[in-house]
Amino acid sequence: MRSHVFQSTSVCNLCGKREVTTVSTVDRKGNPLKTVICVFCGIVRTDPVPTDQEIKEFYQQKYWDSYKSDVPKLKRIYRNAHRAVERYYRDQQFFKNAHSILEIGSGCGEFVYLLQYLNLNAQGLEPHRGYSEYSRKEFGVSVTSAMLENASYPLAAFDLIVSHHVVEHLRDPAAELRRMNQWLKEGGYLLIEVPNIEAERHSPNNRFHFAHIYNFNGVALEELAARQGFLLIEEASKNDHEHHLHMIFQKKEIPTGKGKYTEVQLKDNAQHLYQKLLSHTAFRHYLTLTPYSRAIRKIKNSVVEKWTIKKLKRGKDVADGVFSKRTHLF
Ligand SMILES: [Zn+2]
Repeated sequence: MRSHVFQSTSVCNLCGKREVTTVSTVDRKGNPLKTVICVFCGIVRTDPVPTDQEIKEFYQQKYWDSYKSDVPKLKRIYRNAHRAVERYYRDQQFFKNAHSILEIGSGCGEFVYLLQYLNLNAQGLEPHRGYSEYSRKEFGVSVTSAMLENASYPLAAFDLIVSHHVVEHLRDPAAELRRMNQWLKEGGYLLIEVPNIEAERHSPNNRFHFAHIYNFNGVALEELAARQGFLLIEEASKNDHEHHLHMIFQKKEIPTGKGKYTEVQLKDNAQHLYQKLLSHTAFRHYLTLTPYSRAIRKIKNSVVEKWTIKKLKRGKDVADGVFSKRTHLF
């Protein structure tokens, strides 16, 4: 990399080195937020990594301001129920064969409820007290209220762990992936979905967010998981234009701590990603059709949504309505 390389005060969560270069100095709202890329592997992170206390304050004061109420709006349940069906449908062969499933970051509980609705044995973990309580009361599902860092499960308790948009929020994703590995049975699966830092669907001005401490491309996420004892068995988004990375890993028979890629390959990954982040400018983004077709789709969806939930009063009725219409296909 030709740009200025400096030593960060935090070490890289993947490769343990400190040499980084800055990729952005603002967050998606234009507030100061320094984001760097590790020049040895290509992991992109907030620098320095926020402390536990800073994260706690952020979640308490800012992030959940937009979700002040502990009872979610019905339109949110409606959207999440549809998303739950799509997520299940995409990976159904893994869910169907699982005897015990844990969803980390279960939100208001729609996905755990869908699994229960389909007679699967599933439970959730959710740090937001209001939402985890809502999940239990409204959907009757088993959800524990705790931060992942404070949660503990018996060894080999699950054969499938699912985490949608969680890993990018963690202060120490490597350590948490190692713990997930221990909670899985031999041969168990881990499904991870995170935003794809290489995606071109969002404007680059919208890219960085305080709550997203780590930003991954496919190689970086695969390598991070590989070093914690996971083997990538299916990758839905090899394509750089995909909005999210969606990867399914299997617990390795003997977790060795060894990764998949060589030092040279990881350095190439860092170089490739750095160039890509520089070349994807807001100007190029608005030349593509993506932002416009998205706006049109949003308007269309909200009309259907209002019409469908008009007569319903409870979240459970909304979710049941979506599930009964869509799950007969499974
Ligand atoms: Zn690194």
